[in-house]
Amino acid sequence: MSTRQSCSPLKYRITTNVTFCYPNFSHLTDEDLKHVYEPAEDSFLLLDAIENDYEYLRKQEPSICVEVGSGSGVCITFLARVLGESAVYWSTDINPVAARVTRKTAESNNVQVELVITDLVTGLLPRLYKSVDVLLFNPPYVVTPPEEVGSNSIEASWAGGTDGRQVMNRLFPKVKDILSPKGVFYLVIVKENNQDDIEKIMLNEGFKMENILTRRTGPELLSVLKFTRL
Ligand code: SAM
Repeated sequence: MSTRQSCSPLKYRITTNVTFCYPNFSHLTDEDLKHVYEPAEDSFLLLDAIENDYEYLRKQEPSICVEVGSGSGVCITFLARVLGESAVYWSTDINPVAARVTRKTAESNNVQVELVITDLVTGLLPRLYKSVDVLLFNPPYVVTPPEEVGSNSIEASWAGGTDGRQVMNRLFPKVKDILSPKGVFYLVIVKENNQDDIEKIMLNEGFKMENILTRRTGPELLSVLKFTRL
């Protein structure tokens, strides 16, 4: 995963009729970045997918949005800025430092995010059972030896184990429990994760899949997959 410069508050991204700015994350310190994933091409791909899907998301009128593995908090903060105060925003991370940094990013961008230090969505269930309208996950997707999976520090940002899927595979059976009937799930993957396998798994869980954005960044072929109920 390569790094990418943050968009300055003065650089705006233009869509057909709406203007958004990437969140400010200039408050992230070198010390923070020793412990927490620095926003990179995969993070920005997810922001771009959210922006491209803005009209769809707005029409869904979401009221509860969750990001699993929020890291620095740029993705959930961006979603909160895009969709505004009509929804509430939650984020989870297994890494306690990520929760603290997500709070700083939300505050620095004047949005409110509720933080839970937990594995995937465990700490949100049963409270948010079938009530999340938008679910985001940019998971640790790098293929690594299986024993590298399971840390709660910076290694948890990338170590995906076998096929890079060990962590995301555990979320798939929970998606039907957490998503509302109209809910949508956005997932970042890399080619090695095998999109076709993921489609089959999620089809069995009752979801259809669409690849909504693909981009090559250096050696990685990244995509954002979008899932909705069949
Ligand atoms: N969402 C941020 C972004 O796009 O920049 C960070 C993405 S980073 C690739 C993956 C994040 O998932 C890390 O913050 C990591 O700590 C978190 N994570 C890994 N395993 C997790 C788990 N089992 N439960 C919750 N969060 C997890």
